[in-house]
Amino acid sequence: MSPMAGKQNQTQTQKSSGLARSNRATMGTDHLEHPFFRLQRIIGNQAVQRTLQMKRTISRPGDASEREADDVAERVMRMPDAAEGGTLPAHEPTHTIQQGAATEAGPILRQAAPAVPRKTIWVNIGFDSSAQANEETMRKLRASIRVEKAAIAGCCAVHNRACNIDVKQHYDWRRSNKPAPADGDYDSDVAADRALRDRNFDNIAGRAGGVKVLVTESTLSQTWQGVRIFPRANTPEKGILWNRALAAEDTLAHESGHAAGYTGDAEGGHHSTDPQNLMSSGSIREAGATPDANWCQQMAATAR
Ligand SMILES: [Zn+2]
Repeated sequence: MSPMAGKQNQTQTQKSSGLARSNRATMGTDHLEHPFFRLQRIIGNQAVQRTLQMKRTISRPGDASEREADDVAERVMRMPDAAEGGTLPAHEPTHTIQQGAATEAGPILRQAAPAVPRKTIWVNIGFDSSAQANEETMRKLRASIRVEKAAIAGCCAVHNRACNIDVKQHYDWRRSNKPAPADGDYDSDVAADRALRDRNFDNIAGRAGGVKVLVTESTLSQTWQGVRIFPRANTPEKGILWNRALAAEDTLAHESGHAAGYTGDAEGGHHSTDPQNLMSSGSIREAGATPDANWCQQMAATAR
C-alpha cells in the first residue's frame, strides 16, 4: 500500500467518527446540496441504499434526469473516496505522524494538539448536455481530483503551506439546464456562445467560493471553424471548461491554478517554463509535475 493510500484510509475512518457533529454544523444552512447527500448525512448509507432500492422496486417517479442522478449517486456512494461535506478533526496531522509510534506519551500528546480549524477548497462540478455522468466520466473526475488533492498535500510537505486544507467535490447532476453548444463553440470570440457558456457556469449549483467545473464532451466546444482552440480545457472568468474525453489527469489541478490567479514566471506568461512544474503548459508538462509555492499560495487563498 502506498503512503497516500494509507492516508486516505485513515481519513475515512476518522471522518465517519465526526459525521454526527458535521451534520449539526451544516444541516439547515445548505440549500444547494443534492438531496441524496442531505438524506445520506441524516440517515446514513445503509438506510439510503434501502430507500433507493425500495424506490426502484415500487415505482420510478420523476423525470429521466432524476432517475439518472439516483443511479449515479448510488454508484458514487460505493466508491471508496466519494468525499462530500463533513469536516475532519483539526488534529488529524498529529494522528498521522504519531501512528505506529505507540508510546505511553502518545495519548497525552494527542490531547494537547492545538485546534487548527481546517479549511476546504470546494470543486463544484456540473455537466452540460453533451457530457454523460457515466462510469468513465466519474472515474476520470475522481482521478483528477486525487491529483489536485496530492498537489495540495505536496504544498504542505515541500512548501510548508496549505497544511490545513482539504479538497472536496460537490456534484450538480442536472444537465437539462446546461445545454451543450449546438451550432458554434465555447470560443470567447463569439458572443452568443460565450453567453451560453457563462449561463451554464451560472447554473452550476455548489458551495459558495468554490471553483466551478463545467464538464463537456462536445466537439463543438473544442474547435472553431475546424481549428482547435484548446486541447483539453480552458479557464474563462466563471470557471473551468473541462473536456472529459481529452483532459489529462493533472488538467483539473492545472486549470484550478489559473482560476485561483497563478501568476507564472517572466518567460511563461501565466505559465511556468519548467516542464516539471504543474503550471507549465500542457505541450511541455511532464507526468508527475508538481506545484510551486505560487500555486500553493494562490490555491490556499481560495479555501473557505
Ligand atoms: Zn494553462
